[in-house]
Amino acid sequence: GKPVCECNACYGGPDCSQLLPNCVADADSGDPLFLEPFWMKNSGRSTVVIPGWHRMSYDYSDNSYISQELEKNIRRLHAITKNAVTDGRYIVFGAGSTQLLNAAVYALSMNMSSPVKVVAEKPFYPVYREQTEFFKAKQFEFHGDASLLRNGTSNTVENVIEFVASPNNPDGNLKKAVLEGPSVKTIHDYAYYWPHYTAIPAPADEDLMIFTMSKLTGHAGSRFGWALVKDKQVYENMIQYIQIAEMGTSKDTQLRALQILKAIHGQKIFHFAYKTMIDKWEKLSEIVSRSNRFTIQEIPPLFCNFFEEVRGPSPAYAWLKCEREEDSNCSAVLRAAKIIGREGSLFESDDRYVRLSLLRSQDDFDLLLRRLNDLISKEKGAQ
Ligand code: PMP
Repeated sequence: GKPVCECNACYGGPDCSQLLPNCVADADSGDPLFLEPFWMKNSGRSTVVIPGWHRMSYDYSDNSYISQELEKNIRRLHAITKNAVTDGRYIVFGAGSTQLLNAAVYALSMNMSSPVKVVAEKPFYPVYREQTEFFKAKQFEFHGDASLLRNGTSNTVENVIEFVASPNNPDGNLKKAVLEGPSVKTIHDYAYYWPHYTAIPAPADEDLMIFTMSKLTGHAGSRFGWALVKDKQVYENMIQYIQIAEMGTSKDTQLRALQILKAIHGQKIFHFAYKTMIDKWEKLSEIVSRSNRFTIQEIPPLFCNFFEEVRGPSPAYAWLKCEREEDSNCSAVLRAAKIIGREGSLFESDDRYVRLSLLRSQDDFDLLLRRLNDLISKEKGAQ
């Protein structure tokens, strides 16, 4: 019979080569599907099969065989990537790092004088505010931009928990905490502190560090994250949070995480991910550099201890700015050109900025380039 052509949603014609004129470039969510082709090539070693009678127990103890193996593999992973110190740290598992962010706020605030102010320097990942406000408790409240708490030239404040995402979502910059003091605690969100997205200048050595499989291997749907915690009391508080919220982390998820982490010890994934991301960044930079209307963030080249060389930027997101006075609603400018990003105000920044996700599939990215190229080519004076 006739071959059936199943075109990608944006293409038509007999051989699926015609771009449909109304098709919109989706650069909105941070769904990490750019890693899907890697797992298609490495599907054998990463496959998990679980018979119906397996792993049925609640198995409350953290000492189950899978959990111990998983811990060992996580410590090995950090040793290989040189991105975090695991010596003298306890490990807490969570349903994605999302669950651990709030577990950490709870755990830290339980040992502080209330009410604790929870802050992050803007622009910041919107979930810090959303979650802290949604789960608000007597002992803490969300207090917005960390820089507003700075007292003149001093960074010293009291009873504060600061979220620090490094590299930052949305702008990809490596960051340090902006506040300090004896009663200031920091939650370091290292979702993007992998060689895919940034140079690794030194292993992170903070008191509370949170990582996620979502941006490491791309398995966002498995909902697996972990925290490295120095203080025993904080660790116990976090474990208590996880026990009360969900009686421990799914053993099915742990089993899949273990299989996937074992499959990446060959380190090929880091080369694949870095190459994919730097290629995207270079292509995007080239197009934006021809424009007088738009700019993207600058990230300086840095020595990377994983690749053992100086390397350029390969961030997860472009933080695009509309430079013209009249383009104060940058996402509307892009939307008119059939590009969907996330507006700056969501990150408590200006709507002159839009976050464009580079984590999605190659098709999404190619369409983004094409739409951006069309938009910039129309500019007067563009090179
Ligand atoms: N932290 C940051 C900075 C993120 O961008 C994300 C995901 N977009 C997360 C945490 C949460 O990821 P997950 O819950 O999938 O681990």
